[in-house]
Amino acid sequence: MEHRRVVIVGSGPAGYTAAVYAARAELDPLMLAGLEFGGQLMLTTDVENYPGFPEGVTGPAMMEMFQQQAERFGTAVFNENVTEIELSSRPFALKTSERAVTADAVIIATGASAKWIGLESEQRRQNQGGSACATRDGALYRGKPMVVVGGGDTAMEEALFLTRFATTVTVVHRRGELRASKIMQERAMANEKIEFAWNSTVDEILGEEFATGVRLRDTGSGDTREIAAEAVFIAIGHQPNTAFLGGSLELDDVGYLKVEAGTSRTSVDGVFACGDVMDPVYRQAVTAAGSGCMAAIDAERWLAQQE
Ligand code: NAP
Repeated sequence: MEHRRVVIVGSGPAGYTAAVYAARAELDPLMLAGLEFGGQLMLTTDVENYPGFPEGVTGPAMMEMFQQQAERFGTAVFNENVTEIELSSRPFALKTSERAVTADAVIIATGASAKWIGLESEQRRQNQGGSACATRDGALYRGKPMVVVGGGDTAMEEALFLTRFATTVTVVHRRGELRASKIMQERAMANEKIEFAWNSTVDEILGEEFATGVRLRDTGSGDTREIAAEAVFIAIGHQPNTAFLGGSLELDDVGYLKVEAGTSRTSVDGVFACGDVMDPVYRQAVTAAGSGCMAAIDAERWLAQQE
C-alpha cells in the first residue's frame, strides 16, 4: 500500500495552501481533492476580496492556480472522494474508489457546503443573480433590489452588508420571528434599506437569463406574491463536510470539527483541520488559506516530534 508522510483530504484554498507548505517542507504530500475539487470557489464568478488580485479573479481560475502551485512543489493531487478513513490507529489509513493510502499525518480540509433551498431555479442561477455569499458577490449587483433568504445571524449579516450596494434588501424568513442574535436583529431592523417578508418562503426565482424577482409563498395562507430582486442570496446556513469521518473526530454543537484554540490540532493526535470545516466564524478564502498554512506547519512540527 502506498504510504505518505502527509495526506490532505479536500481542496479549496485551505487544502491547496496546506499542500504548498507541506510539499515545500518535503513532506511528500498526497491530496485527495474530492470530486468537487476546488470547493465553494468553483461555484463563483468574480473573487474581488482576495489580496493580490487587484483586477479580481474568477473562483475556478484561482483554484486552478492554487492547484498548479501545490503541484509545482510535488503534491500528488487526485480528484477522488474518500470513501473510508481509519484514524484510530497509526499509520492512518484512507481509501477512495481508486486507491488505498496510509499516512503519518492527515490534514482535513473538506470545507462546508452552503445549504440550498432545493429549487430548480436556484441551482440554474448560481452565477446569474443567485448566490450563497454576499461578501463575495454583493458588489456585483450595485444599485439593484436584493433578497436574502434566512432568519439567522448569517442572513442578518449578509443583509446588513448588502445595504452598501442594494436599493433595498428584503429578508425572506419562513417564520414570524428571527433566529438571529438580538444585536443582529436590532441592527437589521434599524436599517432603513432592510424590509422583512415574514412567514414566507421562496417558491421560485423569476427571470429568463438573470434574476428579476422572486415569487413568495405565505406559509400560513399559501398565497403567493412577487417582489423585484436582481440578486437572491440564500443564507440558510452551511453544513461542514464531515460525514465521511463517521464520528472519528470531535465536532462542536453545530457540526464543525473541533480544534485546539489557536492551532489546527483536532481531537486525534496527528490529525489536523483547516478551512471552513473547522471555521464557523470567518469562512473566507483568505482565512481558509491562512489556516491551511497553519495546519501544514502544525503537521510538520508534530511529525518532527515523533522522530
Ligand atoms: P442558522 O442559525 O442555522 O440559521 C439558519 C436560518 O435559515 C434560520 O433562520 C432558519 O429558519 C433558516 N432556514 C434553514 N433552512 C431553511 C430552509 N430550507 N428554507 C428557509 N429557511 C431556512 O445558520 P446561520 O445564520 O448560518 O448561523 C450559523 C451559526 O453561526 C450560528 O450559531 C450563528 O449565531 C453563527 N453566526 C454568527 C454571526 C455573528 O455573530 N455575527 C454571523 C454569522 C453566523 P428557522 O429560524 O425557522 O429555523
